[in-house]
Amino acid sequence: MTKAEKNHLNRVAGLGCIVCLNLGYPNCPAEIHHLRYGVGAGQRSNHYNVIPLCPDHHRNGGHGVAFHAGKLAFEAKFGTERELWFQVNGLLKEAA
Ligand SMILES: [Zn+2]
Ligand SMILES: [Zn+2]
Repeated sequence: MTKAEKNHLNRVAGLGCIVCLNLGYPNCPAEIHHLRYGVGAGQRSNHYNVIPLCPDHHRNGGHGVAFHAGKLAFEAKFGTERELWFQVNGLLKEAA
């Protein structure tokens, strides 16, 4: 990982969970979720295709809460990971 990538991840995590923010709870400590584009071998996500999610919204929450418990249910409720990614990058630009 390059220094710039590390810096970017720190800034993304520093935003707090993007879902909690949209629910009205800013600054919820977040971990990094890597977006996946396409399917199949060779499609590796890079460190810029990331969004901040708290442990509950990332993997600990149940179906309909955690992204990794069910992507479709998560996206129906909170927006697609692509939409959240656009929002995150807008916030980073404002903060820059
Ligand atoms: Zn959250
Ligand atoms: Zn993830």
